[in-house]
Amino acid sequence: MAITEEQRERSRQYKETAPASVCVCGHTGDGARSQHLNSGPQEAIWGAGHGACIVPSCSCLKFRWDRFRIPYTEFLGVK
Ligand SMILES: [Zn+2]
Ligand SMILES: [Zn+2]
Repeated sequence: MAITEEQRERSRQYKETAPASVCVCGHTGDGARSQHLNSGPQEAIWGAGHGACIVPSCSCLKFRWDRFRIPYTEFLGVK
């Protein structure tokens, strides 16, 4: 997805309030209130929301990108 500089800024603002992406496990990552860990030694490599899943019973050890959340793409103005 190619985005403009304005969309990049909107993306940053969005991620301060909500997660932007969905993992292959179906849980959210990449933003505030993500269901994947934000902290730990992997943080520098994986980025916010891209660590292990914190949802009980989910064994996902690392966020694996599946798709963007619809509210995120609508906020950005991309389809
Ligand atoms: Zn996951
Ligand atoms: Zn999960």
